[in-house]
Amino acid sequence: MSEENCIFCKIAEGAIPANKIYEDELAIAFHDITPQSPTHVLIIPREHLESLNDAGKGDVALLGHLLWLAPKIANQLGMAEDGFRTCINTGADGGQSVFHLHVHVMGGRPMTWPPG
Ligand code: AMP
Repeated sequence: MSEENCIFCKIAEGAIPANKIYEDELAIAFHDITPQSPTHVLIIPREHLESLNDAGKGDVALLGHLLWLAPKIANQLGMAEDGFRTCINTGADGGQSVFHLHVHVMGGRPMTWPPG
């Protein structure tokens, strides 16, 4: 279901452009517009969920699908072997800025821990 004024819903619908690299019936993946690593992709569900806080038990398969896609996409982009980071920011303190659930997949350089 589309949420009015949600930029990621608009990307999922094709109403605004994105550099898409994958799509299926449940999810799409596209390059982040402000990459924080040499390769930085977002995987989003087509369905509008604001964040992990809004995922219910009925969304368990969808959440699994998003995580299952991460290494597939990392492999497609040539970073599965060296490694990559997946990250889901939730809410203000989690650093979430776009309130449509998304999985960051980042690679192409060594990551540090802990994140800022
Ligand atoms: P977060 O801070 O976890 O909510 O991440 C939101 C991400 O969406 C940020 O990394 C932004 O750079 C990215 N972003 C925002 N608008 C767009 C867009 N139109 N196309 C691609 N990435 C976007």
